[in-house]
Amino acid sequence: MNNFFKVLHNSKSSKARLGEIRTDHGVINTPAFVPVGTKGTIKALTPSFVKEIGVQVAFVNTYHLVTHPGTEIIEKAGGIHKYSGLNMPLMSDSGGFQVFSLAREEKTRHRVFSTASPQGGPRRLSREEKPSLVKISEDGVKFRSTFDGKLIEFTPEKSMEFQRQIGADINMAFDECIPYGSSYKYSKEATERTHRWLERCISTVGNRKTGLEAGQENREKKTEINPISNFQPPNPFPNPSSNIQYLYGVIQGGVYEDLRKKSAEYVVGKDTPGVAIGGVSVGETKREMRDQVRWVADYLPSDRPAHLLGVGQMDDIIDLVKYGLDTFDCVEPTRLARMGTLYKISNLKDQISKLHLKSKNQEIDITKGIYKNNLERVDTDCECYVCQNFTKSYLHHLFKQREILGYTLATFHNLWVMEKLFDGIRAMIENDLI
Ligand SMILES: [Zn+2]
Repeated sequence: MNNFFKVLHNSKSSKARLGEIRTDHGVINTPAFVPVGTKGTIKALTPSFVKEIGVQVAFVNTYHLVTHPGTEIIEKAGGIHKYSGLNMPLMSDSGGFQVFSLAREEKTRHRVFSTASPQGGPRRLSREEKPSLVKISEDGVKFRSTFDGKLIEFTPEKSMEFQRQIGADINMAFDECIPYGSSYKYSKEATERTHRWLERCISTVGNRKTGLEAGQENREKKTEINPISNFQPPNPFPNPSSNIQYLYGVIQGGVYEDLRKKSAEYVVGKDTPGVAIGGVSVGETKREMRDQVRWVADYLPSDRPAHLLGVGQMDDIIDLVKYGLDTFDCVEPTRLARMGTLYKISNLKDQISKLHLKSKNQEIDITKGIYKNNLERVDTDCECYVCQNFTKSYLHHLFKQREILGYTLATFHNLWVMEKLFDGIRAMIENDLI
């Protein structure tokens, strides 16, 4: 098929598998965790820390990069790898999730404000401040940027173009993220729309049947659409990025089993280099989330990678790996870190071997007063830079004083623990224990 993905071992115990995703910016050993660097930065970490932690691949959000600094600037700088210094495999989303969740949030906010009493309650919105969502149609979505009020349009074609300019190695097809609680009728319509949008994404990038050919086409297209001959890239970046980009189709279907299965069949049938499951972790229970993944597990391709969008809580991961998923992006480890919640690596190995992760037992809230006098290492079983050099008291102090270093150290440690978790998971799969 192609060099993009190779299965190295299929577990004898489940659908879990070991694999290798090859990109122009390096190899990802799967299953792998994908930390989220929304705006082209994993918050609080320098790219060298990210490397030191052992992060193999990171995720950036197209919507945020479109609103600021703008994808043309990223392209001029030679692509997101060079612009951000994250010289590693990168994934970008389609913008769909943010566009839809933001639009809906704005709608709700407007409703609350506009019905409130002018006396004492939230102030009414002026005409100019009305909801930023302009229109959802078959063509795509129009809305106003919350950053500068500019009118932005996301269509399948535009999402592909934005992602081309960003230059991440793996791209997602434009999809509609169905809100939790949607009716069957709405979920069906939205899922079918997502399928039609997938067709448009595929015709925009060329049918990437083999990643290699697609990449070549993509490169040619790049030169065609956007000649950069007049542009002089800044030192020390002699060449604009020209890495191969791989498209993943996105499975939707909401909380309805038949829609999820139909969507999986449809999306997998399109033969994109990879597939992703979207629209999960949008407010449903953990059980519902796992059901949505379980329903489509049998449809996932055996020879192409599968990504789960927006899920990666510790206690879910082993179960989800068993369904044959290869990569997971999630903001949780980094977001929790910035709130002072640290994962505990202690007993992680035991927990992995018992195949049961209890995420609550693996966290401490370093902002609690009990840590003020605690001069023990942050986690005595952890070998990360933070745990080798700093005490709980010091981290507590940094958080209480809102010192920037606190966020850096906590993020470093949490991502380190995630990497150790995935090291453990890969070893378990190798031995057919998962
Ligand atoms: Zn540590």
